[in-house]
Amino acid sequence: MLFENISVLTPEFHIEDNMYVLTKGSIISYVGKERPEGTSRRVIDGKDRLLMPAFYNAHGHTPMTILRGYGENMELSRWLNEKIFPFEAKLTPAMVYNSTLVGIAEMFAAGVVSSTDMYFFGEAIMSAFEKSGAKLNLSIGTVCFDDRGFKDLPDYGENERLFQNWHGKDGGRLRVDMSIHGEYTSSPKVVGDVAAYAKEKNCRMQLHLSETAKEHKECQERHGKTPAQYFYDLGLFDVPATAAHCVWLSEEDMDLLAEKDVTVATCPISNMKLASGIADLKAMRKRGIRIALGTDGASSNNSLQMFDEMKALALVQRIGSEDPAAVTPEEVLRYATRNAALSQGRNDAGMIAEGYRADFVVLNLDRPHFAPRRNLLHHLVYSADRGDVVMTVCDGNIVYDNGHFPTIDVERATAVLEQDFESVLVSV
Ligand SMILES: [Zn+2]
Repeated sequence: MLFENISVLTPEFHIEDNMYVLTKGSIISYVGKERPEGTSRRVIDGKDRLLMPAFYNAHGHTPMTILRGYGENMELSRWLNEKIFPFEAKLTPAMVYNSTLVGIAEMFAAGVVSSTDMYFFGEAIMSAFEKSGAKLNLSIGTVCFDDRGFKDLPDYGENERLFQNWHGKDGGRLRVDMSIHGEYTSSPKVVGDVAAYAKEKNCRMQLHLSETAKEHKECQERHGKTPAQYFYDLGLFDVPATAAHCVWLSEEDMDLLAEKDVTVATCPISNMKLASGIADLKAMRKRGIRIALGTDGASSNNSLQMFDEMKALALVQRIGSEDPAAVTPEEVLRYATRNAALSQGRNDAGMIAEGYRADFVVLNLDRPHFAPRRNLLHHLVYSADRGDVVMTVCDGNIVYDNGHFPTIDVERATAVLEQDFESVLVSV
């Protein structure tokens, strides 16, 4: 594919006009001012268009589209125990497969090509991502309320099968991570086991960390240490890890995360919606902690898209610190693209540059909310929305094209989701 005379968001977060971008297979093979030699099967006119890196969702639960709007106006622990867990107990693999497809379609239409996901029925989720062409770092959120070891849990067999069948498939598009759902749903024994297993598999780690004040405080009462210290001591951060939320970290917790190079996946909309709090990104940045942006699940957001998330992040960081310069558009865009790709171990992704993965989104700039275009970088954070996306490309394949989804039958998937939701509802 060749894009002609298109505006490009560069790796330095400058916007360059009148550029040529050429893809070859899954790779960006040329970016520059001169027209590349040779012919292309498809040539796309870039007038009034911006080509920017696609978004990588650093923390999500894609199948939770089926729970969108279910269990509103509650804080985390009541929401989980009274609404989410009982509903999830009724889900089937077929329902999870279908609701995952709906979530991926929603992400594609908003320029998101990849998700760090934690859920159950991993085969169903992998199959949906495989079919759709999207990228996935999947973990089965291990939960254990008794003294069993990891190998005594059904999760062990499931992870073994996932590693065997899916890990690294399709040029690394599909990956298996390990995870602990959270301190409050784990035992020290199982955390230690999962940490050792991840080291053996040489994979990445996902977890929820200090999302709420209650969780943070109760962990201190239970174990005499903070959740970050608890996981650190049990070796969970000895592999590359992504910790979601991190709203209530202490200064010492942040030092531990910095030491272990843990990525913080901040989810500002979910944190505001569940009234969990505001993550102190300024203090994290000071320590050089990598920050990436995530949506969390569709039931605590309630959408899977990064334009709203970027704006929310910038606004909440400002009001939280009473500093209108708390975070720049460059930083916010980096959290949603390059940093999130890095948090998934995708070192060759998240930038529009030669040799990088052809993962990008094309926006229509010919809309009133982009005028005047001189400050376009700010508009991308504060004015743009998912309706501006005209094309989403993942590994060189068009997965969303002006309202069309070449890899997903969206009409069917949403109709099935409606039926599935109703059928679960009558039994909970
Ligand atoms: Zn989550």
